[in-house]
Amino acid sequence: MYIAAHPDDENTRIISWLTHEKHVDAVYLSLTRGDGGQNLIGTEKGELLGLLRTQELLEARKVDKGRQWFTRALDFGYSKTSTETLKFWDKQQILADVVWAIRKNKPEIIITRFDPNSNGETHGHHTASAILAMEAFDLAADPKAFPEQLKYVKVWQPKRLFYNTSWWFFGSKENFEKSDKTGLYSINVGTYFPILGISNNEISSKSRSKHACQGFGMALERGSDLEYLKFLKGDKPKTNDIFEGINLSSEKGPIKTHQEKLIADYQFNNPQLSLNTLVELYDLLKKEKADVSKLNQVKDLILKTQGIYFEWTTQNGFGTLNQEINTRLEITNRSNKNINVAILGSGTKEIAANDSYKATEKLKLDDVQLSNPYWLQQTPKNNLHVVNNPADIGQPEILNPVKKAITINFDSAKIDFEIPLKQKTVDPSIGEQYEPFYTVPSFVANFDQENFIFSNHPKQIAVEVESFVTNSSAKVSLKGSKDWKISPPQTIEFKEIGEKKKVLFKVEPISRNANSSLEAILESQGKTYTQSLNVVDYPHIDRQIWLKTAQAKIQNLDLKIPAVKIAYLKGSGDEIPSSLRAIGLQVDELDLKNWNPSLLKKYDVLILGIRLFNTQPEITLVNKDIWKFIENGGLVINQYNTNRGLLTNEIAPFNLKLGANRISEEDATLKFLLPNHPVFNAPNTITQKDMDNWVQERGLYFADDWDQNLIPLLEGNDTGESPQKGILLAGNYGKGTYVYTGLSFFRELPAGVPGAYKLFMNILALRK
Ligand SMILES: [Zn+2]
Repeated sequence: MYIAAHPDDENTRIISWLTHEKHVDAVYLSLTRGDGGQNLIGTEKGELLGLLRTQELLEARKVDKGRQWFTRALDFGYSKTSTETLKFWDKQQILADVVWAIRKNKPEIIITRFDPNSNGETHGHHTASAILAMEAFDLAADPKAFPEQLKYVKVWQPKRLFYNTSWWFFGSKENFEKSDKTGLYSINVGTYFPILGISNNEISSKSRSKHACQGFGMALERGSDLEYLKFLKGDKPKTNDIFEGINLSSEKGPIKTHQEKLIADYQFNNPQLSLNTLVELYDLLKKEKADVSKLNQVKDLILKTQGIYFEWTTQNGFGTLNQEINTRLEITNRSNKNINVAILGSGTKEIAANDSYKATEKLKLDDVQLSNPYWLQQTPKNNLHVVNNPADIGQPEILNPVKKAITINFDSAKIDFEIPLKQKTVDPSIGEQYEPFYTVPSFVANFDQENFIFSNHPKQIAVEVESFVTNSSAKVSLKGSKDWKISPPQTIEFKEIGEKKKVLFKVEPISRNANSSLEAILESQGKTYTQSLNVVDYPHIDRQIWLKTAQAKIQNLDLKIPAVKIAYLKGSGDEIPSSLRAIGLQVDELDLKNWNPSLLKKYDVLILGIRLFNTQPEITLVNKDIWKFIENGGLVINQYNTNRGLLTNEIAPFNLKLGANRISEEDATLKFLLPNHPVFNAPNTITQKDMDNWVQERGLYFADDWDQNLIPLLEGNDTGESPQKGILLAGNYGKGTYVYTGLSFFRELPAGVPGAYKLFMNILALRK
């Protein structure tokens, strides 16, 4: 079991070495699902980002053949110490989950990614993951620890625990090479597998590349390479073999002899001959009440060796309760003899060698539940996901698809299979595509934003209503507190399944500091629907959905808004444009691929999206035009970029070097260095009160070194650290102004933080 804190912390080189070279069962226990991170491929944040990363981990495991496991810990964002982390999470709860993971998966060896003695040297979640692993190593074997788990599992003592050290912990590769490695255990992760025609390193690079939303697509690595493990706990091996004294074959008796026979008799050019041994093995495992995953592996081998294929599909990706849908079943027998298949509800079919059974049938979706990820059905409590059934804790996902039961009669035995219903589409440019089939409410409503900010004026709020019922109608209404005037309900009609209609409501604040939640309510045929459908859909994962209450926040801010024309260039993706449009500003997104310097002429302000200089190669050709724009009087607001992986060092018209400093305490004091500067006074007066209620953090990747033209405006730091000044810098260049800001506006504006809005308005007003 490999233990770390986040999706992407895991060392896929070791995981694929364990599965491919040592043929052992390897599990990656990630404490969190990565909900708090940033997203390089889209706008998912929070729970939806966690959902995306869960799938990326599962895709990575499909490549490296490990298994995936989690705790309930919520990734609450950057934390500088493990002490802080373990306070946020309620240490005992997460410790219980790690102990549970060990008792359930029974690892002989535990490997941590991080050093348990590194408090304050890396992300607090990282050190915490190693500390928890060290403690859980002993507690998993102690019947007095978390005895409530023993209803489901037995105690388990892992044999030994290592820490997987790396050059990063030594500052540089050179330092690591020079360091004394006596006493460390080494693993050559560069093994080449001739049967597969691929090396371990290549497999692990492919696995790592699945972390697309974190930008970990990488080139394949080949050749010898060493990983180092430091022994920390348990029974210390005397040789370099980390498996010393561990029996790698868990099977014995007839099961073992069957496995050996299967391998010895296997004929690659006639795999069908393995059938009898496989069926016998299946029966033996069943008698011994073996784990379902083992039985499924044997069933899978039976299908593969016999060339049997089946699928059950439908055209739409979504269905509703009690709806009747069209489905298509295909069972193809590519073995050299006839098979006999009993299909639940359709009787028994004889399928001849290399022939298919194909049938379309109507399916009534009764006796099904709405699809929703099990850990997202309730709001998290105390930074933990709420899981109702304790036995479910740790599972990466619990799929509950609509299934068709069939039984294939192989003369010697009858074996049951379940075929999950999937959406199948054929796209002329891609070919066939499969996605999970989900059950959703008949009507859903989505707001296009989570927060709507008002500045004493009414505005139109759009709700997109989607119907999954043909020829239907729904009454749509919005509900807010009594400080708001909201236009009356509207009834809308739908023809097709999946049809979406935008419904506009006039919403008006009638008190100065009105603040409320706004709920969408849909009524149709005596039933009420109150959920939104949130879809995460990318080519590298299975489509995911999350059903949650259709709700947004409405806030009236006493904001003075400068009259400026704004252009925006997208970096890795943020919601600054929609957050500014929400208060009535016009923002045009420019396209770097169709660049023309005259594009900027009609604007006063250009906002650069987060990580623009990290992610958009075209910026290296365009930056000079941007400096020209400033010279001619424009204002450029450069949001944070990471100091590593800049595509150009010229991120400002003058010297500006970025560091990696951040302030992760969202309530850290920010001192106004020049209280009379316009940024604190015009058009909005900023006071310390405006620094209240920021979310997750203050900011990140502050500037380290800058030209004397740039003036630092804020100073602050996390508890116990030295003051930072590179948080917000403004400087004149030609007739215009350049601003660099590491403040997390990309989080604060979408979250509707009033003070952050005010400050951003004043930055926009720095245009002279
Ligand atoms: Zn991490």
